[in-house]
Amino acid sequence: MKIGFIGLGNMGLPMAINLARAGHDVTGFDTADIDLPDMITKATDAASCVAGCDVVITMLPNGAILQKVADAILPAMQKGAILCDCSTVDVRSARQVAERAEQAGLGAMDAPVSGGITGAQAGTLTFMVGGSDAGFATLQPLFKSMGNKAVHCGDAGAGQAVKICNNMILGVTMIATCESIALGDKLGVDRQKLFDVLSTSSGASWTVNSYFPAPDIGPKSPADNNYIPGFAAEMMVKDLGLAQAAAEDADADTPMGAAALALYKIFVEDEDGLGRDFSAMLPRFSGRGRH
Ligand code: NAD
Repeated sequence: MKIGFIGLGNMGLPMAINLARAGHDVTGFDTADIDLPDMITKATDAASCVAGCDVVITMLPNGAILQKVADAILPAMQKGAILCDCSTVDVRSARQVAERAEQAGLGAMDAPVSGGITGAQAGTLTFMVGGSDAGFATLQPLFKSMGNKAVHCGDAGAGQAVKICNNMILGVTMIATCESIALGDKLGVDRQKLFDVLSTSSGASWTVNSYFPAPDIGPKSPADNNYIPGFAAEMMVKDLGLAQAAAEDADADTPMGAAALALYKIFVEDEDGLGRDFSAMLPRFSGRGRH
């Protein structure tokens, strides 16, 4: 397929490379001057990047930028082409862009990912996809080149909705995991023993079993690498913020999500959380007392 790829940052560039390696004809554009490998053709602006493409993929920082990029590319895309946004953006922007694309005679899918930078590089991302059955079928081979799983979650915006529901659980359970370990420390419990029980008991979760936030225990995780991300705490603030915005729009009661957002915001803005993995909540709790 002929593919336009807009947003060649930490995630977008390795995804575009995997598409090119799979034999697709990839043209890329980013507002930053990024060195591209020979296998990707560099476009000088967004409109020329998408001209004549079957599929346009965007991997951008947020919904406002996605809307701005849509202004530039929707009129330049060929009729019948599909815009596939893989960024994490607010559900409302995802639905608006899909509506605008459809009005312009284009297909539109939201397909946010989990798996992070390592997943983007290794081609092992999971895609959570919203949009039509036909669009999902067309994009399947591309999802296969960039990831190992794609779930069709429903209509436009459903991919973003599932993504923020997932990450709200992730943020809340990471905090619960970290405060439990810190409590165990203060009660004199050995962390390895705590892991052995939690990981096989009703306290088990992905954050305990696959991403235990203490060094040298459980599978390798950022805790074993001085909390270098991984998944940065500020990205968790972004995703928990999107979850709260969506909850506000949909009139959903999400008190634990709200509490997790408040805590991660303090961690990133007022403490030493910026640039650290989101599991660095553990040393934060360990260094504190009750009062
Ligand atoms: P990034 O900041 O590294 O990349 C974004 C790129 O978009 C940058 O290169 C920037 O120059 C470019 N850009 C900004 N405005 C543009 C415009 N108007 N036109 C063209 N290019 C423009 O961010 P990232 O880590 O690659 O994340 C991208 C998206 O993926 C975000 O929505 C993020 O929430 C999501 N995501 C990231 C991760 C992760 O671990 N990094 C994991 C899952 C999802």
